[in-house]
Amino acid sequence: MDESGEEHSMADDTPNLLCKVDEGIKLDREIVKVVVGPNQQTFIVHESVIRSRSSFFNAAMDKNWKEAQERSIALPEDDVNTFHTYVQWLYTGKIPCQTDRRPLGYLALARLYGFGEKIIDKTLKDTVLDAVVACTFQANEQGHCTFPMKDTVKTIYKSTSVGSPARPLMVGMYLAHGNEQMVSEKSHLNHKAFLQDLSRALLKERVLPDNAKRKFSQLMSGTPCSYHQHGEDEPCNSQYPHRKVVVLKLKPTTQAE
Ligand SMILES: [Zn+2]
Repeated sequence: MDESGEEHSMADDTPNLLCKVDEGIKLDREIVKVVVGPNQQTFIVHESVIRSRSSFFNAAMDKNWKEAQERSIALPEDDVNTFHTYVQWLYTGKIPCQTDRRPLGYLALARLYGFGEKIIDKTLKDTVLDAVVACTFQANEQGHCTFPMKDTVKTIYKSTSVGSPARPLMVGMYLAHGNEQMVSEKSHLNHKAFLQDLSRALLKERVLPDNAKRKFSQLMSGTPCSYHQHGEDEPCNSQYPHRKVVVLKLKPTTQAE
């Protein structure tokens, strides 16, 4: 009820502006030291904040653990910039950008997603994927839309396992916007599992173009010379140049390879 006696739903009116009192950040006196990276950069964070979303940090600050007793958590293998971004997001609910015009960058977002996997923070991971999608709608300085490239895809795949929703997002973006230049000719630069996911998705989603249909129907009546190595002016020695057309019914197989 408001002053006029009318009832209002807070969620419906201003969903991004207001929250319930018990949903706000609880800033108590307890602080925790988090020491990040090989150079041991120290961050001071409220215990209630660092424990609020992550099962990893919540468990680390359980009173039975050394970290809780020493009020210090060591993350020697993690990236300082990524952790800094995480803390900013924890306190503000926003992922900071490099500048007004340029978003944080796909690779930095992919690292943040990987960090979310490690510390088991589902809200962070969902937010990062939203940010990745949002970035694709922001034009770069040349006025073009951008998409995650191989390093971002690799980082996402390396930090996730089968079943992670970040993987089909990468595949979906390539299905919708990709071209052959987005897959490197140097095979070691592509993530193997991503290429498998992408090729399977392409086969599943494909609509055969007319030239492919023509080739397929040619194969039904014998191998066309375009697959042979003899020259155009040399005779074709194929045993099956005019095989009778047999209509094959192709069934998808479920057999393991
Ligand atoms: Zn031939």
